[in-house]
Amino acid sequence: MLKKEYSKDLSKLNSFGMKVQSRLFVEYDSLMDLVELDFDELFHPVKHIGAGSNLLFTGDFPGTLLHSAIRFTEVLSEDAKGVRVSVGSGVIFDDFCAWAASKGYWGVENLSLIPGEVGASAVQNIGAYGVEVKDVIETVYAYDTKEEEMVHFDASACGYAYRDSFFKHAEGRYIVTHVVFVLSKAYAPRLDYGNIRAALGLDETSVPKGLTPQQVREAIIRIRREKLPEVGKVGSAGSFFKNPVVSRAEYERICAQHPGVSVPHYEVGDAVKIPAGWMIEQCGWKGRRSGNAGVWDKQALVLVNATGAALPEEILRLESQIIVSVRERFGIELSPEVEHL
Ligand SMILES: Cc1cc2nc3c(=O)[nH]c(=O)nc-3n(C[C@H](O)[C@H](O)[C@H](O)COP(=O)(O)OP(=O)(O)OC[C@H]3O[C@@H](n4cnc5c(N)ncnc54)[C@H](O)[C@@H]3O)c2cc1C
Repeated sequence: MLKKEYSKDLSKLNSFGMKVQSRLFVEYDSLMDLVELDFDELFHPVKHIGAGSNLLFTGDFPGTLLHSAIRFTEVLSEDAKGVRVSVGSGVIFDDFCAWAASKGYWGVENLSLIPGEVGASAVQNIGAYGVEVKDVIETVYAYDTKEEEMVHFDASACGYAYRDSFFKHAEGRYIVTHVVFVLSKAYAPRLDYGNIRAALGLDETSVPKGLTPQQVREAIIRIRREKLPEVGKVGSAGSFFKNPVVSRAEYERICAQHPGVSVPHYEVGDAVKIPAGWMIEQCGWKGRRSGNAGVWDKQALVLVNATGAALPEEILRLESQIIVSVRERFGIELSPEVEHL
């Protein structure tokens, strides 16, 4: 069924909690609805959203927001190795993780508690604790709004990279309707990222026996709750900035300008990635407020709606202030990870 609402209040539909409206909001719960939807009749621009956890609404949305209420979880096949399961785009991704853990299937336990829906997970290639969702995606099914037909893509055809896919660059052409995941029955805990081992009471080297996906999921949830703002309580969109990738020469220049400081970095081919959160912290922003906006006190990469009353312009002002600080201190230009609408 198609549900259309005009002047829709979006406060509960974006994790930043921006009190904005959409001129039109259209929710559908079947493929048929999508096929029958006359896109020419909608207010433009048209944008598909999930739970709004990677978005910053910079004001009222002047066009149409589409949202999927396609919600099902169906095991397509099962053998001794694992299951193939088809999941509707409107399913909360963490509900899928909870379902998989409850059945004892390995694959998505490290992705527990990442906010958002299944459709967006395949667009964003969400990742955490050494796992990216592409690792468990077999096929993404989508509606092609240009050719007006259903299409599907094997994971290898989705252009997956770090928090990226070709859907992100197709300007809204593809609407993900459901995703087929492959989960495993084989014992496969991935514990060597963040402090999962510590959270499970394991030392750094032991090879544990008998863990369940549910136990790993619970450890991940504990770690995330300690570090990140809780969705629904403190408005945020997770990591606000991308971690900049710079040349080795650039990295050496920064080290030379900061004698005695050990600049954290990761090699990316010939280039070097420097954690944006570290630079923001070095600039003194961690835990600081700017009006109703602020920087999360446990993770400087996360900007928050500190009082719950922040206006989009306050988040934008804080974003600019941080960009200027990092530019002046490190000569590096930060760019946002969060999509601005
Ligand atoms: C506290 C917090 C912690 C977070 N931690 C992580 C983390 O650890 N790892 C991580 O990867 N991300 C993290 N995020 C970011 C966010 O959870 C992901 O980007 C998530 O995939 C967004 O899902 P969503 O449903 O809210 O999508 P939205 O934010 O609504 O949309 C994201 C993008 O997907 C597109 N989209 C949504 N649904 C569809 C669809 N059905 N078809 C086509 N396009 C669609 C939208 O157009 C938009 O471009 C975090 C966010 C928060 C608030």
